[in-house]
Amino acid sequence: MKIAVLKGDGIGPEIVEAAQVVLNKVDEKFNLGIEYAEALFGGAAYDVYGNPYPEESQKIVEQCDAILLGAVGAPKYDTIEPADLRPEKGLLAIRKSLGLYCNIRPIKYYDFLADRVIWKKGLLDGLDIVICRELTGGAYFGKRGHDENSAYDTISYSRPEIERIVRDAFEMAKNRDRKILHSIDKANVLDSSRLWRKVVNEIAVEYPEVELHHLYVDNAAMQLIVNPTQFDVIVTENMFGDILSDESAALGGSLGMLPSASLGGKISLFEPSHGSAPDIAGKNIANPIATILSAAMLLRFSAKNEAAARAIEDAVNAVLADNIKTPDLADETSKVVGTMEMAQEIAARI
Ligand code: NAD
Repeated sequence: MKIAVLKGDGIGPEIVEAAQVVLNKVDEKFNLGIEYAEALFGGAAYDVYGNPYPEESQKIVEQCDAILLGAVGAPKYDTIEPADLRPEKGLLAIRKSLGLYCNIRPIKYYDFLADRVIWKKGLLDGLDIVICRELTGGAYFGKRGHDENSAYDTISYSRPEIERIVRDAFEMAKNRDRKILHSIDKANVLDSSRLWRKVVNEIAVEYPEVELHHLYVDNAAMQLIVNPTQFDVIVTENMFGDILSDESAALGGSLGMLPSASLGGKISLFEPSHGSAPDIAGKNIANPIATILSAAMLLRFSAKNEAAARAIEDAVNAVLADNIKTPDLADETSKVVGTMEMAQEIAARI
């Protein structure tokens, strides 16, 4: 199992190194034969090669079975021109070049966060949502342009692009206990959404066991707050998924808890859902759990080793149940630990 390690910028190196401590422990226990190949990515790659995803890094990635990514971006890169060389464009390039059209973000509620979240008691009991976000189409990849006084971006989707992600989402819903799928669009206004809804309805015929609902994105944003446990699997286009998954992160207590997997190509990519958090970079206070749970997803989806994935998830639960927390999760009763210490506590429970 060869893993490309792209640490990136800001807290990226800290959280990836923390995840490697846990991966190394699982490797030892389950004899996985993990090897790492490190490559520069994002601002760190721009500093050396003038490109956020240079050929040198592409070559390393292409020889690996899976990718573990930290995060990219920092204020000093926000003014790079042309904008296509900014770190975030490296993310779009790697997703597109590897055909990673399906981004999965599981959001679970943890009992021990009850006092940390702002919701009415009981509202989140049993919360278990998977967001299935289209990742290589829509506004982030559409035609764009600007002059001094105007600018435009376009949302464009083809039928095959919609079909493949929607089919994945139906499959996912079919294999879960509740078998509910919410498709989220803006079909009352956008042509691209009308095609989206049409295709969803066509594919729904193949999945009679799945209970399908359509929601407009504005309503979905509200429903996630007022009645989040109605959701099981959510499928939506790129930009709506980007926004709704960050909103949903609040349901899980912290952005630092939300892992993700990007699938669809030969090599899959695993990364936390949050960004590079420049405000806390280098302070050893970032929560590494989203990255550690992303490493668990790597073992589940790329290594096909469910037991190893579960071992990590159980160890995360055990540490949190012991009230050992990073500052973003802690209250006055917690033992507060730093990024690396959290990883060591998790590794010790595997
Ligand atoms: P962010 O996710 O980096 O941070 C938002 C807030 O959450 C900050 O207060 C941060 O301190 C906190 N936070 C994030 N991750 C945390 C963690 N693991 N532990 C504790 N707290 C955490 O979003 P932002 O501030 O909007 O963006 C910062 C940079 O990240 C920008 O350059 C942006 O473009 C980039 N970004 C990158 C990705 C990615 O690499 N996939 C995703 C989103 C944003």
